[in-house]
Amino acid sequence: MTQMYNNLEKGLLIPPYGGRLTNLLTEAEERDELIEKAVALPSIQLSLRSQCDLELLATGAFSPLNTFMGEADYVSVLETMRMKDGLLFPIPITLPVGDEINISVGDEVALRSAKFELLAVMEITEIFGWDLEKEARAVAGTTDTSHPLVSEMYSWGKRYISGPIKVIDLPKNHDFKELRLTPLEVRDRLTKLGNANVVAFQTRNPMHRAHEELTKRAAEKINGSLLLQPVVGKTKPGDIDHYTRVRCYKALFENYYDKDSTALSLLPLAMRMAGPREALWHAIIRRNFGANHFIIGRDHASPGKASNGQPFYDPYDAQELAEKHSEELGIGLYLSSELVYLPEKDEFEQVDKINGNHKTLFISGTQVREDYLNKGKLLPDWYTRQEVAQILSNVYPPKDKQGFCIWFTGLSGAGKSTIAEVVIELLAEYGREISTLDGDVVRTHLTKGLGFSKEDRDTNIRRIGFVASEIVKHNGAVMCAAISPYQSTRDEVRSMIGADKFILVFVNTSLEVCEKRDTKGLYAKARRKEITGFTGIDDPYETPQDADLVLETVDCTPEENAERIIAFLEERGFVPGKLAAEAVV
Ligand code: ADP
Ligand code: ADP
Repeated sequence: MTQMYNNLEKGLLIPPYGGRLTNLLTEAEERDELIEKAVALPSIQLSLRSQCDLELLATGAFSPLNTFMGEADYVSVLETMRMKDGLLFPIPITLPVGDEINISVGDEVALRSAKFELLAVMEITEIFGWDLEKEARAVAGTTDTSHPLVSEMYSWGKRYISGPIKVIDLPKNHDFKELRLTPLEVRDRLTKLGNANVVAFQTRNPMHRAHEELTKRAAEKINGSLLLQPVVGKTKPGDIDHYTRVRCYKALFENYYDKDSTALSLLPLAMRMAGPREALWHAIIRRNFGANHFIIGRDHASPGKASNGQPFYDPYDAQELAEKHSEELGIGLYLSSELVYLPEKDEFEQVDKINGNHKTLFISGTQVREDYLNKGKLLPDWYTRQEVAQILSNVYPPKDKQGFCIWFTGLSGAGKSTIAEVVIELLAEYGREISTLDGDVVRTHLTKGLGFSKEDRDTNIRRIGFVASEIVKHNGAVMCAAISPYQSTRDEVRSMIGADKFILVFVNTSLEVCEKRDTKGLYAKARRKEITGFTGIDDPYETPQDADLVLETVDCTPEENAERIIAFLEERGFVPGKLAAEAVV
């Protein structure tokens, strides 16, 4: 059943595809023919996630997979973490396609990047439906839409397609080209370093002293080389952008690692944030890049807490699952409990190995943002190298200059736009401008033509969410005022924007009151059945349980509610009030 992994030699584990640079790239002549042919083929434009998957299929990083999974492999992977031939592969690699694309089995299709560049041609041999809840439960272990993968799945096409692919070009990236290496190129570097043992390290965060310590300990333990391989594809929404992170990695690599035994390469992986299954997958990928050991610390590939406040995965679940399969994979694991800093000794130690009553220091990712970057404070020396502290502080403006999104939800006529109008003026007093994306207005241009079916409503909200996320990414402030009746879509936009910059405001006006107000005359029309699918009358409104603010409009004026929002922004530090007051103290 598992001979493929077991029979491989120690060290560099997968044969390098008959000497070719990558797994699926076509020869020059065939390539020209394909490019010509592709002009007439239907096109599928890949999401960033699918584009990352395609690249890793093409370069052999997902070996032995060489195309998106067909139904038998897919079902088997969900149920058993194994492909139908028994080979361990814990994450489904699938290509979702929307219903609007007209395709049949036997067709050839051009796979194009988000920017419409031609990447590959697929001959479709299978088209099959998939079940969101089933996949979410199997991969992420939850259907909770506060899990970033689960909320994103709602936007995927409802069919998966599979079939042999011929890759014409890898997606074009213009940044850090010297570090974007295929498995074969990485193997080459590792061979030149000359050690039989190689331990790989995965991260999606800037590396601090604890990570440095962890990686150096691992390299020493295996008496070999270290492969630093951070992810630059798609990580958890709200993570520090990869440009900034790679600048940090380069500074560390240059100044603090032994170049005779360390390689740095970037991995264009689209993470699933699936904890244990993801850890196992990471190990398989690194094995394809030539490592024979893999580091798993605390909370590997964890998306944090679920909507009930509990973590999605226990901190050491990932280690446990990987350990169970490490022999079969032929990959050794370097497992570590949490490393904390002992100021008296000026060293790091694993938390379960500290004897006696020592003072320990630890700064969480949230504290890094809230207590340091947001306040314009440099991170301390013991926590991170000063080169890294400097890069992060240059890139991150203090909180009152960062972007945020106020997302209003509530029935039509609840008072969302009216309150938003007041917020604009009050914020101006603080010198902060804010853009508004009002549902009624947006439907006249950005989302013109969309109706009120569930699908169209979701598309409307996603488009607003997309624009809002761009504004917030560039440190702008934005208010979105649309009914946004569905919890899963609200979760999706929260995830797109980043939870710590997203403020959900529920304007809690009852249907009775909205209908009585009926300023737009829409409730009357809906009752007369002149319009259908009207929220509250013959379409659902899912009341949010996770609103940051709940506003009542019967007993409170728009001004009072706008003041509450400003107070909330102050408390969160998005307007200067509170921080300025602290600075004076
Ligand atoms: P991800 O696992 O999502 O890539 P990180 O970048 O936080 O997220 O972690 C990278 C690796 O470093 C993981 O294996 C994680 O368990 C480990 N790690 C991070 N911080 C520590 C720490 N303080 N102690 C031990 N291991 C850690
Ligand atoms: P939405 O944007 O939620 O569809 P609007 O703000 O366009 O709602 O409409 C709300 C209507 O209710 C406006 O005509 C507004 O004057 C009226 N209204 C009455 N009392 C309030 C209140 N306390 N807060 C907000 N709007 C109120």
